[in-house]
Amino acid sequence: MSKYWSKLAASLTPYVPGEQPKDQRYIKLNTNENPYPPSPKAIEAIRKAANDELRLYPDPTCDDLRTAIAKRHGLTKEQIFVGNGSDEILAFAFPAFFSPERPILFPDVTYTFYPVYAKFYGIPYETVQTDNEFLINPDDYMNPNGGIVIPNPNAPTARYLIVDELERILRANEDTVVIVDEAYIDFGGRSAVSFINDYPNLLVVQTLSKSRSLAGLRVGMAFGHPDLIEGLNRVKDSFNSYTLDRLALAGAMAAIEDEAYFEETTRKVMATRERTAKAIAELGFVSIPSSANFLFVTHPEISAELLFGRLKSKGILVRYFNKPRIDRYLRVSIGTDEEMDQFAKALADIAEEAG
Ligand code: PMP
Repeated sequence: MSKYWSKLAASLTPYVPGEQPKDQRYIKLNTNENPYPPSPKAIEAIRKAANDELRLYPDPTCDDLRTAIAKRHGLTKEQIFVGNGSDEILAFAFPAFFSPERPILFPDVTYTFYPVYAKFYGIPYETVQTDNEFLINPDDYMNPNGGIVIPNPNAPTARYLIVDELERILRANEDTVVIVDEAYIDFGGRSAVSFINDYPNLLVVQTLSKSRSLAGLRVGMAFGHPDLIEGLNRVKDSFNSYTLDRLALAGAMAAIEDEAYFEETTRKVMATRERTAKAIAELGFVSIPSSANFLFVTHPEISAELLFGRLKSKGILVRYFNKPRIDRYLRVSIGTDEEMDQFAKALADIAEEAG
């Protein structure tokens, strides 16, 4: 606490990101990064932009990238917004669409950034209980509210809500904005992006951090009715009118256009996920069915905190959340096949030591 902090700064409980260890000792399965490198075409485009373009400011409206994203989805660039990671888009969306007068709704077990943004902007919120298996029930989102955030698939549970169910939420909440956070949608779920033509209250947020393996480049994108996109731009231009830098624009553009590489790497991650879930089930571990690039794992007898510590001492970093309802679980990002074999082997050794 400093005497120089504003009342707001002093009142904040900021988000704590997952560890980024400085020594490269760990098999790093703690922040849902992609184990494969980005598309070689993206790296080449970034190199070229670094050589040729850095003297100049970037395009403040990111037109070429928004056009490329729109084309991929059969939309227009007026329906697309891009930002420095989906985190930044969410940071713009909360003040753009939610107000201090009415509470917004999101699931009780979800991405821990949502309450941080809500508090920062003075937006009240109510959390809606997921069921025993962490499933979201659309019926619980029918009451009057100031807006809704649904992560699909959810994090850290990996649970996917089928889009027809999501549509029920959209239909029942025509007067408020529903943000669907699709950070993990490319690992097996069906996106709600096509619904934006029918529901002017829907904003879908996606990221290049996971399925495009560009977490370090910080690029996110949002899809919605042009009115919503304009709302985001009003907030963005009040902070920083140059959202993405030239390297990010060049890399993102090439990554979006390299569909073959995207298909190949996401398919590999999903296959490794299913193989890992099966291997650890044979050891007595239970994972929630996953539509994401991570598993949410528990063991009926061994505490998650103990597992976290033992795995770390064996050089494997996963995520443990010391929070109600999820403190028996570990969130484990999907690595390469070799990494996941080592993870399964470590779990087998720990289970044997514990048993
Ligand atoms: N939403 C969810 C549900 C996430 O798990 C993450 C990643 N931590 C993000 C958004 C943000 O991703 P990024 O800012 O890298 O696009």
